[in-house]
Amino acid sequence: MLLYDIIIIGAGPAGASAGIFAGRAKKKVLILDNDKSGTKKAWVENHYAVMGITGYDVFETGKKQAEKAGAEIKLTEATQITKNETSFSVETNDGATYEANYIILATGASKKLANQLGVNMKPISDESKVTIIDADQDGKTNIEGVWAAGIVTGKSMHVAVTAGDGAKVAIHLLTEVNGKEYVDQDMMC
Ligand SMILES: Cc1cc2nc3c(=O)[nH]c(=O)nc-3n(C[C@H](O)[C@H](O)[C@H](O)COP(=O)(O)OP(=O)(O)OC[C@H]3O[C@@H](n4cnc5c(N)ncnc54)[C@H](O)[C@@H]3O)c2cc1C
Repeated sequence: MLLYDIIIIGAGPAGASAGIFAGRAKKKVLILDNDKSGTKKAWVENHYAVMGITGYDVFETGKKQAEKAGAEIKLTEATQITKNETSFSVETNDGATYEANYIILATGASKKLANQLGVNMKPISDESKVTIIDADQDGKTNIEGVWAAGIVTGKSMHVAVTAGDGAKVAIHLLTEVNGKEYVDQDMMC
């Protein structure tokens, strides 16, 4: 079976943004998405340096940009994640199984996979029964190798915030994998 460095579940702003950074870092990246992002219904006028854009365009351009960076994207639902000795197996509803060393959960409002995998959850606030993934500030969960980004970790429901969080989590993961601070900067010639 093909072994990916990182499988990202969710191609919304958090997942696609993480995929852009991980792909540009020359990691073998697979993004799985079941096309249920609420972001596609948005009209976004509050994203820094973007005058106005449909959520549909945010979502589709984000995916294209992740592909351009080298990530593979598959339209399918991840149904189960199993922790093996040194990797993770991800099963999908079309009968495929993929393997990776690291997982990033960027599943938006859906906490099904996090619960199935045994990721620690916590209430979003003292008053609320809504739970979110209990990730540390870098995006690490209680399960070694499983990271999380975006609104599934309780981030503010804004494209700029969730895209930034996906980038941040990928940068911390890449820093850990590479053993030195990861920086991705280009310059005009
Ligand atoms: C109607 C509406 C209007 C909005 N307007 C604005 C706005 O004007 N400005 C603004 O900044 N923000 C706006 N937002 C909020 C913004 O879109 C979200 O808060 C944010 O982008 C969420 O990003 P995310 O990547 O964390 O989650 P999402 O965009 O929800 O992405 C999660 C992805 O994971 C996928 N997924 C989940 N589980 C699985 C699985 N098991 N297998 C495969 N795929 C899976 C989902 O299909 C989805 O594509 C709006 C949201 C809505 C709904």
